[in-house]
Amino acid sequence: MLVDRMKFIATKELGRLAKWMRILGFDTEYFQEENHSKLKIVALRDERIILTRNTRLSRPKGIKLVQIKHDLLNEQLLDVSKELELKADKDLMFSRCTICNAVLEPIEKEKIKDKVPEYVFETHNKFIKCPACLRIYWSGTHWGNVEEILKEAGI
Ligand SMILES: [Zn+2]
Repeated sequence: MLVDRMKFIATKELGRLAKWMRILGFDTEYFQEENHSKLKIVALRDERIILTRNTRLSRPKGIKLVQIKHDLLNEQLLDVSKELELKADKDLMFSRCTICNAVLEPIEKEKIKDKVPEYVFETHNKFIKCPACLRIYWSGTHWGNVEEILKEAGI
């Protein structure tokens, strides 16, 4: 499977990891229910790789599952990258909304004048918008110290 085609579904204890998989550009659904059969159905239907910290979740037939062994985010990212030989791809990064997983779209600067703080408008030229939740993103914001975390995670 090509790395950029990999899709994921993270179980409820992995909200932060799900957000980071989105930052890396991966289509990642965050499944917050306890219903394991439903989880497997979604994974199978959408060909998603299950990411879970839950050791009671049996390995389902025909579905790939990555058992996350650590609590710290950088170690969790390492768990995923080791198992799937994942590499951070700069072209894919920051292409999805961290809140709702939708693919972000470029938006003209003039259209967001009233929607971002004035200093941000003055100092940035490129903006992208989530078509689902309408959140506006710009470089260097919302994502925290990405470079540092990825370096710690070794990906
Ligand atoms: Zn969104």
